[in-house]
Amino acid sequence: TQQQDEEKSKEYLDELEFLAYTAGGEVYKRFIQKMEKPNPKTFIGTGKLDEVLSYVQQHDIGTAIFDDELSPAQQKNIEKILDIKIIDRTHLILDIFAQRAQTSYARTQVELAQYQYLLPRLTGMWTHLERQRGGIGMRGPGETEIETDRRIVRDRISLLKKKIEKIDRQMDVQRGNRGALVRVALVGYTNVGKSTLMNVISKSEVFAENKLFATLDTTVRKVVIGNMPFLLSDTVGFIRKLPTQLVESFKSTLDEVREADLLLHVVDISHESFEDHIASVNKILDEIDSADKPTIMVFNKIDAYKPETIEEDDLVTEKTKAHYSIEEWEKTWMNKMDGDVIFISALMKENFEAFRKLVYDKVRDIHVTRFPYNN
Ligand code: GDP
Repeated sequence: TQQQDEEKSKEYLDELEFLAYTAGGEVYKRFIQKMEKPNPKTFIGTGKLDEVLSYVQQHDIGTAIFDDELSPAQQKNIEKILDIKIIDRTHLILDIFAQRAQTSYARTQVELAQYQYLLPRLTGMWTHLERQRGGIGMRGPGETEIETDRRIVRDRISLLKKKIEKIDRQMDVQRGNRGALVRVALVGYTNVGKSTLMNVISKSEVFAENKLFATLDTTVRKVVIGNMPFLLSDTVGFIRKLPTQLVESFKSTLDEVREADLLLHVVDISHESFEDHIASVNKILDEIDSADKPTIMVFNKIDAYKPETIEEDDLVTEKTKAHYSIEEWEKTWMNKMDGDVIFISALMKENFEAFRKLVYDKVRDIHVTRFPYNN
């Protein structure tokens, strides 16, 4: 329905705005256009583009961000008309990953993805130049120039791939050296609280040993609950419409998930589209053949959950209840999902004891199945 469509586009733009904010930008205005299919030349229609142009000029805007991947030609055309920086969703996400990459491995992966994004756009530049120079006669030098650029980029790509392969082999060895410990991986959509939970778990005094395994961008810590040691890893956040260039280059980062014995799928229950987030994460898990692993669904941020607003006498009032008790959460449909489910607040450490116990029990089950004679 139309209302559902509107809700969807609002949600997508909310997320895009959040990404822009994460990248260090400030969003002034949103434009939405409904079209059967995008305009091949300018993505949005010319009328809408005029509307954007007049806003850009009136408010001294420096950048326009599009929620989809623009073709190289569309990007050039829009740039020519608006005369400001044009960024598409893929470009924005690559930018954020570049900003966040802390290890040389992660930086190499992002750089590879960036060059892969750039390569077809150099081709676009060539057609653009050719047209500008009128083709005949001028084609030679332009072509050579771009061909040289493309060769440089291709060489760089194959160099980066070799570098990544080498580190991958080292990481395989490292993973092999970790012995028979049970491996637990935190997975979940971006910003749901994975790192917070990781920190709470490893800082909590019950965890005797706090060893940081050097595995580049995934943090792996050895933790002990009760007498049960296991390895816990925090992986990169999953995100809807992850650029294909990144899916490819982050594959090895996802090895940590692929090799895990138990997944803690963290969900931000206070987010209005948490169900979509669960679906996005499950889709990626499916792509790396990890959908059937034992999983604990960890519904986080119960402290931040806002109860529904109800309308009374045309006035909108917030329900006064601050938030649900654990018993109330356990009556919701989430608690009836397959596998184990727990409701917590990593920030306020609410229901943390029950969470610990659940993780302990699951890890112990896996350990006992693996070493039936040691117990
Ligand atoms: P990650 O991207 O999944 O690793 O998420 P982070 O751990 O970086 O957390 C994202 C944001 O959510 C941070 O601002 C945290 O302080 C916040 N956060 C994490 N857990 C909770 C929680 O239980 N309640 C509330 N209200 N905020 C939380």
